[in-house]
Amino acid sequence: MKKILANDGISKSAKLILEKNGFNVSTDRVEQDNLASVINKEKYQVLLVRSATKVKKELIEKCPNLKIIGRAGVGMDNIDISFAQKKGIKVFNTPSSSTESVAELVFAHLFGMVRYLFDSNRQMPLIGESKFKELKKSYSNGKELSKKTLGIIGFGRIGQAVAKKAIALGMNIAAYDKNIKEADISLSFFNGAKTSFTIKCLPMKEVLNKSDFLSLHIPKTTKKAFIGSKEIGMMKDGAGIINTSRGGLIDEDALMFALEKGKLNYAGLDVYSNEPTPKIHLMMHPKISLSPHIGAATIEAQERIGIEISQEIISYFERH
Ligand code: NAD
Repeated sequence: MKKILANDGISKSAKLILEKNGFNVSTDRVEQDNLASVINKEKYQVLLVRSATKVKKELIEKCPNLKIIGRAGVGMDNIDISFAQKKGIKVFNTPSSSTESVAELVFAHLFGMVRYLFDSNRQMPLIGESKFKELKKSYSNGKELSKKTLGIIGFGRIGQAVAKKAIALGMNIAAYDKNIKEADISLSFFNGAKTSFTIKCLPMKEVLNKSDFLSLHIPKTTKKAFIGSKEIGMMKDGAGIINTSRGGLIDEDALMFALEKGKLNYAGLDVYSNEPTPKIHLMMHPKISLSPHIGAATIEAQERIGIEISQEIISYFERH
């Protein structure tokens, strides 16, 4: 029987599909340091991961029987893809399954930010009963998203899904992408009506200059932060910034400095430089809306991811 280790979990339906097709699927998490010995001892041929488990050269080298490394999600920065492929291992991910979920999380942060919900949810249980009026006053300068400009850095799958939702809310879009000049954004409505817009991408500087909110949707390919103090300096005073893409794209110290000085008004973060132990100052910051890397963590996305993964594995073993 072919054995699969889903080290960061897998959806119930995907597990069922795989088991029905004769696979043995373990979801018992193995610590990073013990992975190689467990994979070899248990004769796992497939290793499935999300972002937590690292599949680097050293691990791949120690596991000669691995046939497939599957990434449940988009970013593959935790996998040494070229080395695995050199060793004849099939590596795949599920690039589009989580697009909608991440795009919706952007708006969860945005709506929460502009009305200070993230902070009022922290304060109300503490002093809501005794200092209701004071809290009401401190959250009295909320803003509407309608008619504001949303800057989108990285106009790929998620960037464009974010644009659709922003357009539906009556926002303006300012997008930048190093490879895409323009994109047709098509909106479908409940009654079958459709409408589309062509969005022309702008230079990065212009996007920084004109955005009321900036949302990042690019991969992390360099060590250097993509948004540092220089880029923040080019943004509008009082703007907000959201990162649901990858930790380290924003220089976190520069971000905290900008929030403290009032250059930026708020931030929404789903991803952090040093996951899974993000900086405590970020976690405690009163102007940051926080989530623990849950961009793809919806039931719907996990279902789509699981089904895509099981189909890939089944068809691989049918061919080999
Ligand atoms: P995508 O490949 O469809 O789009 C990325 C876009 O970024 C591309 O159009 C590319 O041309 C552009 N790009 C790359 N480098 C750039 C640069 N330096 N400057 C400007 N543009 C650049 O990817 P996607 O599906 O939209 O996903 C975007 C990111 O979202 C992924 O990198 C992934 O890490 C992240 N993500 C996060 C979660 C989460 O749980 N928070 C879930 C899924 C995806």
